[in-house]
Amino acid sequence: MRCEENKICGVCGREFTPATPCTLLEEAGEWLSAEFWEDAGRLCPPCLENRARLALMYIIDR
Ligand SMILES: [Zn+2]
Repeated sequence: MRCEENKICGVCGREFTPATPCTLLEEAGEWLSAEFWEDAGRLCPPCLENRARLALMYIIDR
């Protein structure tokens, strides 16, 4: 028996297993969720990465 609990991603609706971020983008995405979107822990790693990438683009474009 494992105690991992799968979650449903708040963005794409896919099931994922919460894990510690392993890339810089995932880490950035998690930080952004906590700071700006207040939905930390509810996004799957690919969505965290996408969000981080988008946020970086906006910040650079400004
Ligand atoms: Zn997702």
